[in-house]
Amino acid sequence: MAIKIMLDAGHYGKTYNKGAVAGYYESETVWKIHTYLKPALEAYGFEVGVTRKNQDENPTPEQRGRMAKGYDLFLSLHTNALDDETLDRPYMICFLDVAGELAVKSKAAGHKLGAAIEKVIGTKQPYQIWQREYPGDRDKNGKQDDEYYGVLFGSRAVGAVGVLVEHTFHTNERSALWLMDDGNLKKLAQAEADAIAEYYGVAAPSEPVQPAPAELAPYLVTITTTQLNVRKGAGTAYPITGTVGKDEVYTIVAEEQVGAIVWGKLKSGAGWIGLTGYTQKLSLPAAPEKPPEVIPAKFEPYAVKITTGALNIRKDAGTVNPIVGVAKEGEIYTITDEKPVGSTVWGKLDTGGWIGLTGYTEKLPAPPAADAGCNPKFEPYNVKITAGALNVRKGAGTANPISGVVKQDEIHTIIAEEKIGSVVWGKLKSGLGWIGLTGYTLKLGVPPAPAPAPLSPPVMAKGSSTVIKK
Ligand SMILES: [Zn+2]
Repeated sequence: MAIKIMLDAGHYGKTYNKGAVAGYYESETVWKIHTYLKPALEAYGFEVGVTRKNQDENPTPEQRGRMAKGYDLFLSLHTNALDDETLDRPYMICFLDVAGELAVKSKAAGHKLGAAIEKVIGTKQPYQIWQREYPGDRDKNGKQDDEYYGVLFGSRAVGAVGVLVEHTFHTNERSALWLMDDGNLKKLAQAEADAIAEYYGVAAPSEPVQPAPAELAPYLVTITTTQLNVRKGAGTAYPITGTVGKDEVYTIVAEEQVGAIVWGKLKSGAGWIGLTGYTQKLSLPAAPEKPPEVIPAKFEPYAVKITTGALNIRKDAGTVNPIVGVAKEGEIYTITDEKPVGSTVWGKLDTGGWIGLTGYTEKLPAPPAADAGCNPKFEPYNVKITAGALNVRKGAGTANPISGVVKQDEIHTIIAEEKIGSVVWGKLKSGLGWIGLTGYTLKLGVPPAPAPAPLSPPVMAKGSSTVIKK
């Protein structure tokens, strides 16, 4: 059963109790705190009640305290006032030390709250637990043992642990200013909710678990009908985007049932085909998805010898650019980039500037690679997933869309790394995407197993008309 907490915004109306700063009112501030505190507590699984449905309701203090009947904890929220404007300490007003257990619990909760509030507001003075006895016999039990504060008198009367929280002094200018910031009040409410959760030993609200996307393991089908329409979506309502023919083989990457027919999405992106009755699933697993390795065309520097008497070196490719130097016949330069300008190819010198190559230079045979090793190759390695489930993303970093999930204890080969913030991301050899390595994986000491031999030949169904579409 949920732990029940009754929150009491200490005063009614919007303009009760001015503070040291114009525009500050205790009633307005404690109303806000309690509206922030309620959802923060509910996030922990507490059941939360309030003593006022709106700011204009004004039951007596004792009545509000008695509303905690059936609740585990009653909190009356206030800010304090005193002529001494240097005071800012939080006061946690707790039950009198009578009648045992309730008073002990009240003080224990008060300590948790006081420490949390002192910390989040950053008060100059430490919090204090406080109590005050009523100078008389309120409950007519023949003893002077009653709570001075009506709210606490009421909550104790109904058996609910009570704390009257005087957050700080609104007669302290710094405190009043702090309390006039809504962002601060939210932080304050969260700190109080955390403190109460700690007092009750309630675990932090768990972050919503991201459901793993339903991943279909791709599979191969062969077309068993003479001709089959490919459609833009699953179902005959979608326009036809093409056709597939008998005995052709396709990889299906998603399924959707429409009426009695299961439709399959073609990996090629061409569209969807009706599977039921028109295709046969092949038992071969689909070839692992491996996007073609696109290696950006990298310019291979080469050496040239100047074959003209003197050749201007210009700031950029083209004679319109200013001259920054001269190259002489017989000199050798290394070209690190090329750019055609009109009919002349210009070459960028590794020493800076550009020269016209066409007609003025001679390309030299490549010298032995002196700088081999300058570009260290990434050594693939294996990792074991240590997180329960780990999102695979299209790129390195959580900003990229999720492209799959890997599970605990699976072993994957990492072929590239990229650091994003404090997390090193690794690119999966499978081509599925990137995973966060730091904290979620364990690097294995053994070198990755050689890639499995390709399935040979992938599928050779009947006759030469077989087409392998990937
Ligand atoms: Zn008050």
